[in-house]
Amino acid sequence: MHPMMALLPFSSPESQFAINAVREASLLARRIQREMVTGALTKDDRSPVTVADFAVQALIARRLAEQLPGSTLIGEEAADALRLEEGLATLDQITTFLRTAISDATPEEVCNLIDRGSGEPPATYWTLDPIDGTKGFLRREQYAVALALVRDGKVELGVLGCPELFDGSIYVAVRGKGTWTQPFDESQNWRQLHVSARNSGTAARILRSVEKAHTNVDEIGQLAAKLGTTAAPIGMDSQAKYAVLAAGEGDVLLRLLSPSRPDYREKIWDQAAGSIVIEEAGGRITDLDGRPLDFSHGRTLAKNRGILATNAHLHHAVLAALRATSA
Ligand code: AMP
Ligand code: MG
Repeated sequence: MHPMMALLPFSSPESQFAINAVREASLLARRIQREMVTGALTKDDRSPVTVADFAVQALIARRLAEQLPGSTLIGEEAADALRLEEGLATLDQITTFLRTAISDATPEEVCNLIDRGSGEPPATYWTLDPIDGTKGFLRREQYAVALALVRDGKVELGVLGCPELFDGSIYVAVRGKGTWTQPFDESQNWRQLHVSARNSGTAARILRSVEKAHTNVDEIGQLAAKLGTTAAPIGMDSQAKYAVLAAGEGDVLLRLLSPSRPDYREKIWDQAAGSIVIEEAGGRITDLDGRPLDFSHGRTLAKNRGILATNAHLHHAVLAALRATSA
């Protein structure tokens, strides 16, 4: 066991696997970003995907199979495009980077590892967003590696690796055991996180996506006005926002529905790890109707609409303001 691990109030095989895999994968993502002039492929839904998204999913799939065999992984990426002629150059790059961690990796194994993530979720599963906030990764702003364990629709454990937050930090939450953080380089002990105590809308710090296509920036502005919030909302990519809220550096996090995609349903890997990181730091997370998030309906939160997360103190006030703005 790693000596620092002993300071966490949990040490299950699941938490040790998740912490080590996310740390290793975050460092790989950072290396890919630094060594590559990133070209992005475009997926069918026109979202970008990079060598790092694929390499991280393959690495974590491999570590899961080695350390917790028999587990199910539900990941964002699939290898279809890499198996085509046009994908071969990208597949070669992924394989080269993966060999720094798995020396005998072959292109075929890379595809098979990535595709371990493409099923429908059973009752118990791991869910992974290998690079959450790919647009932030491409802009060299915030991004996160997000991994969570879900049982019967509820998140039990979540880990976020945030290479650009506080010089690179890992965030881990276990149900009933709190949310903890440590720098990637383990230069400091694990530290427990708590949400802020702010309970006035006037002083609230609101966190939102950078990408207008992922939220409703105008409605967030109206909501802020209704709450009397003085500071402008802070745009940040990825579940790094969830870590910032858990650390007490933000008070309200909103994912309103973008006018361009009013029927959008959140993906499980975009919310699972971040949600428990917030809850175990004392915060609250629901959908925009105040309903709990339900991770038992396939690869999306099919029964939920948008996301509201707060330090708990401001939750009622923001839900009420939301009802008023959308009425
Ligand atoms: P953010 O970094 O907050 O912009 O969120 C990034 C995530 O938004 C990506 O991982 C996507 O899965 C997700 N996403 C894509 N399209 C939408 C949409 N129309 N509404 C909300 N989220 C979206
Ligand atoms: Mg994502």
